[in-house]
Amino acid sequence: MKKNRVCAKCGSTAVIAPARLETAPVLGPHYEVGLAADANPSGFLKSTERSCLEAYVCAQCGYTEFYATNPGPLSSACEEAQKRSAQ
Ligand SMILES: [Zn+2]
Repeated sequence: MKKNRVCAKCGSTAVIAPARLETAPVLGPHYEVGLAADANPSGFLKSTERSCLEAYVCAQCGYTEFYATNPGPLSSACEEAQKRSAQ
């Protein structure tokens, strides 16, 4: 859907993209929407990596796909967390 702008569910070419996701702050440094991964989940300093999400929305049926705008650091944090848990 991101590459060809065709809905994966209904085949429509009316894709709204990229649609920006809004976040709503909650208590502390947390948000209701977004992605996060801790490189050191059990540590005092979690070394958290975050990424925003962008949405691709079919204007015909509403089917929506989300893509992380910065997936590399999330992946690195998950790999580091797995290495730490294996030690
Ligand atoms: Zn659709």
